[in-house]
Amino acid sequence: MHTQNKSPDISSSKIKIRKDCNFEILLPTQRNNTNFLLCSFILISILIKMEFEDRYGQVQRPKYDCLLFDLDDTLYPLSSGLAAAVLKNIQDYMIEKLGIEESKIPDLCDLLYKNYGTTMAGLRAIGYDFDYDEYHSFVHGRLPYENLKPDPVLKSLLSSLPIRKVIFTNADKVHAIKALSRLGLEDCFEGILCFETLNPTHKSTTSDDEDDIEFLGSTQSPRAENGSPEIFDIIGYFSQPDAGSSGLPKTPIVCKPSVSAIERALKIANIDPHRTLFFEDSVRNIQAGKCLGLDTVLVGKSQRVKGADYAFESIHNLREAIPELWEADKLAEVTYSAVAVETPA
Ligand SMILES: [Mg+2]
Repeated sequence: MHTQNKSPDISSSKIKIRKDCNFEILLPTQRNNTNFLLCSFILISILIKMEFEDRYGQVQRPKYDCLLFDLDDTLYPLSSGLAAAVLKNIQDYMIEKLGIEESKIPDLCDLLYKNYGTTMAGLRAIGYDFDYDEYHSFVHGRLPYENLKPDPVLKSLLSSLPIRKVIFTNADKVHAIKALSRLGLEDCFEGILCFETLNPTHKSTTSDDEDDIEFLGSTQSPRAENGSPEIFDIIGYFSQPDAGSSGLPKTPIVCKPSVSAIERALKIANIDPHRTLFFEDSVRNIQAGKCLGLDTVLVGKSQRVKGADYAFESIHNLREAIPELWEADKLAEVTYSAVAVETPA
């Protein structure tokens, strides 16, 4: 006697989930199968999850996962007078400690700043040797810090931002901590990238980093016959008609706006430039950061320049200028509720 086979036929019930999805699910065709409901539930859950990720997966992730802030004239305004006092103190140091003729100071400062990023880096490049800590304490030790007042508005803005925040300054650690403390912002940042970060003490005499291109080749200042450091005449050099920066001595100091300095700082702090917004008052620092893929905000100017993605007069304009920075919190809530929906009871 012929007996009909009652087992479910699963071979003819392949379902391709999506046309762009390269896997298939096999379902039993008999509706009285006890596993049918369970299989259907699992399938529907998978489809909902995939559809949700398709629609929202890309926009769910916040654009930035780090905000990188310069300190001076970025987190407080130029009108505080600190920048003018720094310049005065640098010039006094050059006259009093390095014995440089006063009449040469304006031109020298200008050339060093333009060609080396900071006057300090330029002084070391052209042959002056001095203690970094002594220089910083001379230049920053007498600043009118009393001009920096607690900024509860900025503190509230920064504290409400659900994104990692890091300071990146050419100044030394003592100054950075003091300025942040005066502004009442000392607890707003995950860390500080400063002079000491990029110029650790041991690097004043040697370097074992093959990538440290700026440092190599400048370990020793040339010396005159009498044994004193030979000073490169940068004013005389640039008085020549065809003088270019390629003929300048290199500096052992690593600082903004050197692209390699910024790259190193990002590496030290494990910062992805393509997911970071960089706040700066210096146009050349902005442009160097842009070379590495950072998105940039020029602070202190209302007009954007080449390399700046945003420009605003004050850091206080942050919420109005880039409100999407606060979206990360909302996205996190949406993601959480979606996960809750798709979890079977
Ligand atoms: Mg600055």
